[in-house]
Amino acid sequence: MPDFNVEAHWCCETVRHWQAKVEGHLVYWGPFPPQAAYGYGMICDCKGYRFRGTCRHVKQAEEMRCGWQAFVHGDEPTEDGKCPRCGGPVTAERYAV
Ligand SMILES: [Zn+2]
Ligand SMILES: [Zn+2]
Repeated sequence: MPDFNVEAHWCCETVRHWQAKVEGHLVYWGPFPPQAAYGYGMICDCKGYRFRGTCRHVKQAEEMRCGWQAFVHGDEPTEDGKCPRCGGPVTAERYAV
């Protein structure tokens, strides 16, 4: 049943959680710092990242991550409910209006 008091914004699941191996390092995208109420970022497990707060793995990972959001990039989920850009699972952000 449609609920006209709630707007759903589709986005790729990579908007919330994502991780990849880049040159043997685990790069993780998610709420950052983990205790933050909002704000997302990329974390790498290498020494360079711990030292400088960024590294080349993070930069490579930024290009690998899909990050599709309907209200930012347009498009809609495919008919079988997948991300139109990467074909991965989608999730709905719901906002009460
Ligand atoms: Zn790194
Ligand atoms: Zn995607």
